[in-house]
Amino acid sequence: MERDVFTGNFTQQEPLPQASVEAALRVMQSGRLHRYNTAPGEVSEAAALEAEFVAYTGAAYALAVASGGYALATALRALGVGPGETVLTNAFTLAPVPGAIASLGAVPVFVGVTEDLVIDLDDLAAKAAQARVLLLSHMRGHIADMDRLMQIANAAGLIVVEDCAHTMGARWNGVMSGRHGAIAAYSTQTYKHLNSGEGGLLITDDAELAAKMVMLSGSYMLYERHGAAPGPAVFDAVKYDTPNVSGRMDNLRAAVLRPQLADLDRQCARWNERYRAVEAGLTGTPGLTLIARPEAEDYVMSSFQFLALDWAGREVADLVARTARRGVELKWFGAPEPSGFTSRYDSWRYAPSQPMPRTDRVLAGLLDLRLPLTFSLEDCALIARIIREEAGAVFQAG
Ligand SMILES: *Cc1c(COP(=O)(O)O)cnc(C)c1O
Repeated sequence: MERDVFTGNFTQQEPLPQASVEAALRVMQSGRLHRYNTAPGEVSEAAALEAEFVAYTGAAYALAVASGGYALATALRALGVGPGETVLTNAFTLAPVPGAIASLGAVPVFVGVTEDLVIDLDDLAAKAAQARVLLLSHMRGHIADMDRLMQIANAAGLIVVEDCAHTMGARWNGVMSGRHGAIAAYSTQTYKHLNSGEGGLLITDDAELAAKMVMLSGSYMLYERHGAAPGPAVFDAVKYDTPNVSGRMDNLRAAVLRPQLADLDRQCARWNERYRAVEAGLTGTPGLTLIARPEAEDYVMSSFQFLALDWAGREVADLVARTARRGVELKWFGAPEPSGFTSRYDSWRYAPSQPMPRTDRVLAGLLDLRLPLTFSLEDCALIARIIREEAGAVFQAG
């Protein structure tokens, strides 16, 4: 039998919009790439991006920075997290999240993941007293019950920082992801929902935290040139006491991001069409568990996850190898040795951890694929068919 092979590239993004290319050219022609290098009366691209991000999210303040990981560390610094302090975070997330905690000399304390791929709220409730801050990662775009999470956090006096690297544009119960916690951080790295190669954004409603984050990012005494920062009186209270840890965004990146932000909702809808095409193709596959999506969650899915729950390791490895031969790249979070990335608590050996059997069971069977917008809906259907056929072959043999 002639078998279909997929020939698309899982890491190929769309080109940037023409408006981004033209805006980048204008910045380069001006020579003014540094965000504070403005002509008299000029609003920099970075400041304009911040104003537009405030308009998009509804937050009071926004700050553009050099990366998502830098944004996370800046949020923690502004909250006064320091050496030796424990910070709660997800056992399943990407390396920059525990890395941001460790960059301050603080110590991550890991909270488990459920079969729905969200933070385990029972485990969170049990550990809530161990820290002052929760760095909550909406890993791979799966949003926990934020109403219950905030109840747990508020009852325990936990400050929540949201890592929205995968939830820019998503909502829980109508509330935009990033609007529940004290601070939210976003990434504009190439594999996220906006692409400037590297970059990050921060939002908050708290004027003092906003001023501290602006100072931390390296504003010198030029904070009045920001697009969505508090007034000078708030800076007067913090400006001599907040160190400069430079991590500004430049005008070139801001310029390519602004047209993408204007188009974000349309792009999010296109990602979700692709997600649903894969989901439809995999529904009912024997041996595979799809992730249930709650009614209250308006997700944005630029990747797809499913579980080969309780399969033997060699069976999952066999599925990954079989689909790879047909052009479908699956990432396996349960592989004995991490390759390409780390996403599990026991890969971060600088932080102490106890075995987490329920989390280990989920991660042992967790598979993931990227869904770049360069894939057509037919591509997505073919990818699902290949996974379904190969899972059938492995599952029957097993
Ligand atoms: C990408 C990502 C980040 C931030 O990454 P940067 O590469 O530093 O922008 C943070 N959290 C998660 C879950 C991510 O996937």
